[in-house]
Amino acid sequence: MNIVLIGMAGSGKGTQAKKIAEKYGLKHISTGDVLRAEVATGSDLGKKIKDFQDKGELVPTSIVVEALKKYLADNNIFDGFPRNLEQAKALDEFVKIDLVIYLKIPDEVAVDRLSKRRQCESCGFITDSSHSRCPVCGGRLFQRSDDTPEAIKKRLALFHDVTEPLLEYYKPRDIVHVVDGVRSVDEIFHEICAIVDESFV
Ligand code: AMP
Repeated sequence: MNIVLIGMAGSGKGTQAKKIAEKYGLKHISTGDVLRAEVATGSDLGKKIKDFQDKGELVPTSIVVEALKKYLADNNIFDGFPRNLEQAKALDEFVKIDLVIYLKIPDEVAVDRLSKRRQCESCGFITDSSHSRCPVCGGRLFQRSDDTPEAIKKRLALFHDVTEPLLEYYKPRDIVHVVDGVRSVDEIFHEICAIVDESFV
């Protein structure tokens, strides 16, 4: 089973992808995380990637595909990939996509969530600026270097320009489901599970 989760930055894709991966035994492939892991190695490639990320630009497809291939399993949920037509076509070369879920939120909600987003240094938990320490493990919180007003604006514009049109690309296959992302994590998860269950009975 291969699921693509499409959504703007701040839509909650990462949170939902993790829960779906756990429930259905899928490999959670977040290209943002895969690329950040390369950045953390301090390699020359990592430095190039960080530069694209901090500006809110897309990392070139060849780099993303190379990185992603190392993580592929038989059953995957893709979080943040594909992000443009070139990537969608590349993905079709190596897996069959069964389901595309679009986690939809308005731009204002994305801007609000991203500007308040904080992540735990120790356990990676994502929370918001109303907390001074991680509510899960008490670790220190940091703000992502691409959650700046400039980069947020760029990322949202790119989403509308090159990622959202992928819904049209997948539409003829009749595998696209739109889910309202402005609800509680549990409500959204419940709806996505119902879609997955219905698609794989
Ligand atoms: P995310 O963690 O999904 O918000 O991604 C953070 C950043 O990583 C993006 O703004 C891009 O710079 C880069 N990135 C993540 N996924 C991709 C992708 N599929 N193609 C190109 N760049 C990506």
